[in-house]
Amino acid sequence: MTSRPLHPETLALHAGWRADPSTGSVVPPIHQTTSYQFQDTDHASRLFGLQELGNIYTRIGNPTTGVLEARLAALEGGVGALAVASGQAASAYALQNLCRSGDNVVSSTDLYGGTWNLFANTLKDLGIEVRFVDPTDPEAFRKATDEKTRAYYAETLPNPKLRVFPIAEVAAIGREYGVPLIVDNTAAPLLVRPFEHGAAVVVYSATKYIGGHGTSIGGVIIDGGNFDWEAKPERQPLLNTPDRSYHGAVWAQAAKPLGPIAYILRARVILLRDLGAALSPFNAFQLLQGLETLPLRMPRHCQNAQAVADFLASRPEVASVIYPSHMTGVARERADRYMPGGKGGLVGFELKSGRDGGRRFIDALQLFYHVANIGDARSLAIHPASTTHSQLTPEDQAASGVSPGYVRLSIGLEHIDDILADLSQALGAAQGG
Ligand code: PLP
Repeated sequence: MTSRPLHPETLALHAGWRADPSTGSVVPPIHQTTSYQFQDTDHASRLFGLQELGNIYTRIGNPTTGVLEARLAALEGGVGALAVASGQAASAYALQNLCRSGDNVVSSTDLYGGTWNLFANTLKDLGIEVRFVDPTDPEAFRKATDEKTRAYYAETLPNPKLRVFPIAEVAAIGREYGVPLIVDNTAAPLLVRPFEHGAAVVVYSATKYIGGHGTSIGGVIIDGGNFDWEAKPERQPLLNTPDRSYHGAVWAQAAKPLGPIAYILRARVILLRDLGAALSPFNAFQLLQGLETLPLRMPRHCQNAQAVADFLASRPEVASVIYPSHMTGVARERADRYMPGGKGGLVGFELKSGRDGGRRFIDALQLFYHVANIGDARSLAIHPASTTHSQLTPEDQAASGVSPGYVRLSIGLEHIDDILADLSQALGAAQGG
């Protein structure tokens, strides 16, 4: 194929695959196998010794999953990717790949609830401290950094607040200290390209927009290949000291003959090997089917969501609309700078009728599904105060941006008139009486 860089629409259909050499199959087949026949003992030794990359065992790699990984790396502009069983596994591994007990991470407060739990509780129990800072001021990341800080972490477009994260500002601070910025770009694939702003690693819940069809849970970690892990070796001991679990390999050096892939190589051969959250080949296949249309779907999600935000802002039942293009000040500036082509498919709003109004609104919906998910081709809605955030104290709900009357929408690909009609009748029902 041409050496000219290909566009996302083309990469989503072609990257990482060109017809099966033995069968001619155009679509990457589902390689539903656990293991792979070695050619001979020399071949097996080379694979285990990483002198050659290849298939050994599906927990560590699979050809169907490999196409998904190559395609996502190409779309994101990274050098390599690792697909895993869920978005949760992706964020856990992204940090465990750099942190041991006693180390710390500085993270934005604005996170998906599952990630918050992982960071505040499970990683803490493993001895990894996550220090939460308000991303409004990027300097907060510097202030929370000490000699044990191994990574910064944030979501590009975190819900429910939907305030776009200052990727370039925080990535630049981290690079001064040898600290990489890891960005969860789940809500903004193709709309924001975190590597172009200095992020070192991107993670996704592929369950959302990447699949789009709502059939499969999956996650991915993508290595930007743009971070010098050796520049401050004391800062990244897991990549710069001999790994006793892999015959003393020092990953930052061992990976060099294979490319700038030390980070993602270690994640595969250590974390997938030992912790084992492998993506099933069937789910990789499903996610590949969805990915083919991602570049077509994202603009439509944005267009419909923008129309929904404008519509909600005009309704008397609505106290406020939470959508990047409806923000002011620094939040609006960041949204316009990082998301010039569209502000995503998530819309929040607050009902004047509060908690009861939120419940009535959700129960009246006919087209929207009431589910704990985002990024589906179908429109989805949830009332966090009675579901995802119901266990939190009112103070913690408020701190996380959720008021009693807050409703979160994930706007799908239906015709906009049908979406607005369903919202309109449910807003009427929210008023009650
Ligand atoms: N990151 C974000 C931003 C999410 O919204 C989610 C799930 O809702 C996850 C990570 C976790 O992904 P998964 O459900 O695939 O484990």
